[in-house]
Amino acid sequence: MSAAVVTSYVGIGSNLGDALGNVQRAILRLGQLPGTRLTAQSSLFRTTPIDAGGDDYINAVAQLETSLTAPQLLQELQSLENEFGRERPYQNAPRTLDLDILLYGEQKITSESLTVPHPRLTQRAFALIPLLQIDPMLTIPGEGPAHSFVPGVAGQAIRKI
Ligand code: ADP
Ligand code: MG
Repeated sequence: MSAAVVTSYVGIGSNLGDALGNVQRAILRLGQLPGTRLTAQSSLFRTTPIDAGGDDYINAVAQLETSLTAPQLLQELQSLENEFGRERPYQNAPRTLDLDILLYGEQKITSESLTVPHPRLTQRAFALIPLLQIDPMLTIPGEGPAHSFVPGVAGQAIRKI
């Protein structure tokens, strides 16, 4: 039996080093993960850090079709972060690359290492807006239409590049 293929959305962010190049290269690398295809990508966006210092972020969202399980995908994303020189000196520190699983099919996952849908997805313009650009009619499992959360993030600075 072949593994089930799931549509997953990955949030990408960088605000350290060549942030624009990091995000662009990360998108390409996501499409090369085992059992995975890049099926859509948002524009790149420039955003102001929230609850953190450092330079502006470059953010984007990638839509993947993958036969990786959610824990396998998380592991691959963390390997990619490491490949890009990710360090974690303190919480919300500037980062060369952050890869978060925003959605994994219609699944709700709560484990020690993984919460999906990503808990801050509905509260952060840098995740919500690129996601809606890919699919304006998307539903967030257990939460409702993604677009219904836009008014709540309207005050957050985000500019399409
Ligand atoms: P940030 O919360 O700023 O993205 P990190 O990238 O350092 O911080 O991630 C911290 C931890 O968040 C990871 O070790 C991972 O186990 C956990 N985590 C929980 N849910 C998710 C998710 N949906 N996507 C990515 N990481 C997640
Ligand atoms: Mg992260």
